[in-house]
Amino acid sequence: MINVTKVYLPPLEDYIGLLRGVWERAHLTNNGPLLIELERRLRDYLDVPYLFLVANGTLALHIAIKALKLRGSIVTTPFSYVATTSAPAWEGLTPIFADIDDRLCISPATCDAVWRDDVSAILATHVYGNACDVEGLEALAKRRNVPVIYDAAHAFGAKWHARSLCGFGDISTLSFHATKLFHTGEGGAVVTADPELAKRIEYLRNFGHATPETFHDIGTNAKVSELHAAMGLCVLPQVDRLIELRKALVGIYDRDLAGLDLAQPNYAQGLGRNYAYYPVLFATEDQLLHVRSQLNTENIYPRRYFYPSLSQLNYVPISQVPNAESLSARVLCLPLWAELDPFQVQRICTIVRRALR
Ligand SMILES: *Cc1c(COP(=O)(O)O)cnc(C)c1O
Repeated sequence: MINVTKVYLPPLEDYIGLLRGVWERAHLTNNGPLLIELERRLRDYLDVPYLFLVANGTLALHIAIKALKLRGSIVTTPFSYVATTSAPAWEGLTPIFADIDDRLCISPATCDAVWRDDVSAILATHVYGNACDVEGLEALAKRRNVPVIYDAAHAFGAKWHARSLCGFGDISTLSFHATKLFHTGEGGAVVTADPELAKRIEYLRNFGHATPETFHDIGTNAKVSELHAAMGLCVLPQVDRLIELRKALVGIYDRDLAGLDLAQPNYAQGLGRNYAYYPVLFATEDQLLHVRSQLNTENIYPRRYFYPSLSQLNYVPISQVPNAESLSARVLCLPLWAELDPFQVQRICTIVRRALR
């Protein structure tokens, strides 16, 4: 069976080696040395000044919202994983959906078009590791006097004009879920360049503690255990190699699917891709369903990701996002992970080709 993705497991001996130290120290969580080491290495790798590991990418969004003290409504994208909408809604914000453009991200123009007086932030997703128009969104945010949060769950290792894409916005959030390009089993991170926000993020993830007996403010438990940090320390040294392997597979897909009636997102000029996903856009939903069923009969399971459009959720206001609704019905992510056999990619392309004939 070939699924849309497969978790990467680092050499078991590497992980066991780190566990020995955990056993010796008998220190399982609460700012352990592996967590501190992984945060340091991730700051280096992503070239960001402040990075806080948290228990998952969803809590990273909750903490970003709390750190920025957002109120009212938030302009966000209907084309993302559900957490991008559920987190602000859970925090009492009204999600206002802007439509997506050919990058499959929300744009300054679509955000401005839905603006209302109580908007307190923009929350955009770098979909499939493609870059939002970060300069344009920053200019809009400045003019409207609100902060920008990027859900950078797909953007690990992606670059924007040689800069880490995870370093943009007032806050960027990451997911280190097992299925992501870089992972800690479960995990995530909150990234900022602002020292005041950094201070808040640090105590928000730890119950709001200032000292064991005093509190800065409300907080939650988003701490990361040494067992998860150990996984990250084993995966991180492999990431550049994993991206190269993915890139080679994407090359095969691009070559073998060329000439078919399939489109791809418009990858922004200036983007250094991380090859986290291989989405294809069909002309119609019927074509997608036909190709998917042909792949399924061969035990190949691509994923409709993201589908449905988040504008269809039952806890959001009604909105007009025709691009997002059309694209989410026509996009399919084909199987892609670093250690996928190139022969299988060729086989998948053959099946897609035959199905579209
Ligand atoms: C994976 C993902 C999340 C959620 O992250 P978790 O670590 O699973 O909580 C949020 N947004 C996007 C775009 C994602 O892909």
